[in-house]
Amino acid sequence: MIPLTETEKNIAEIEKLQYSGGLLLLVVLTIFCGMFLWRMVNIPVQRLTEGTIAVMKGNLDHSIDVQTNDEIGFLTKSFNHMTRTLKQTQEELQLLNQTLEERVQKKTGELQRAQANLIQVEKMVSLGTLAATVAHELNNPLEGILTFAKLIRKRMNNPDLSEENKIEIISELTMIADETARCGNIVKNLLLFSRKKVGEFKENDIRSLVEQSTKLIEHHLKIHNIILQQSIDDRLSFVVCDAEQLLQSLLALEINAVEAMPNEGKLLIDVKKTGENEFTIALSDTGIGVRDEDLPHIFEPFFTTKKEGKGTGLGLAVVYGIIERHNGSITVASQVNKGTTFTITLPITREV
Ligand code: ADP
Ligand code: MG
Repeated sequence: MIPLTETEKNIAEIEKLQYSGGLLLLVVLTIFCGMFLWRMVNIPVQRLTEGTIAVMKGNLDHSIDVQTNDEIGFLTKSFNHMTRTLKQTQEELQLLNQTLEERVQKKTGELQRAQANLIQVEKMVSLGTLAATVAHELNNPLEGILTFAKLIRKRMNNPDLSEENKIEIISELTMIADETARCGNIVKNLLLFSRKKVGEFKENDIRSLVEQSTKLIEHHLKIHNIILQQSIDDRLSFVVCDAEQLLQSLLALEINAVEAMPNEGKLLIDVKKTGENEFTIALSDTGIGVRDEDLPHIFEPFFTTKKEGKGTGLGLAVVYGIIERHNGSITVASQVNKGTTFTITLPITREV
């Protein structure tokens, strides 16, 4: 019989040692695994998160170190590649934007020059149209002046002039003076219109501008038996505009109206204040009108329904450009064989 108490005690102690040893090993293993995971997963993911935030804030130069060859390493590489591509694309876009701006600027310059040329061409054409009638009209008063001058010279040869003769001569001289003034007026207005001046926006009396334009076509109207009616709103006086160009626009519209009424008709010019900073100029004629299918095209450069050599198709295109430069608009309403109305809407002052 051998007592087992001692052995059992030893076994119990060994078991206890085994348990605590195992527990310790487990704790060490857990800590090791934790640290491994921390290094291999948590830190790279944190770096990726930081990278995403940096990119989100617009820093496309941010790049993350690739330290492993596993899935996370692959993800990091893809992330870096994406950032680089993004940066490249952004740079390309910026460059494109810049060249686009330059090209737009260049084209705008070209367009402005083309528009300036058109204005000049149309001016010369309307001047030609005007000059023909005006020359014709100047001939009449000049012939009268010549006749009266010859008559007076003949009378002056008579040594003893009666009182009656003197009154006659004075009345003939008055007639000469009136007719000369009329010729002078025509020439003065023509010169005003043909003068080449850089466009400028200034305060101008709208009444005198409209009257100046109709004065120029006065003889034109008479030849074609056209009655003119003008009405200008009393509440309007000074408007800010480029006087010469507005005059040119009015003339182009008036000449078109006359050309639409070759035998007789009525031209109505109505200027109205329509708002705090807005007024309209409506020009109506009782002419041939515009066909529905032509209406969308009449403001296009070189669109004309007139015989070759008669129309350039530039008038309305130029008017359109001028009105646009004044921050205004122009509309048209027309009925075939009834007439046409052009309405220009313009600001009274220019907003700064
Ligand atoms: P053009 O007078 O040289 O033909 P415009 O640009 O001045 O060129 O006018 C273009 C076209 O618009 C004219 O050919 C004509 O068909 C039409 N048009 C313009 N104004 C009138 C009008 N008042 N009445 C009828 N047609 C018009
Ligand atoms: Mg015309």
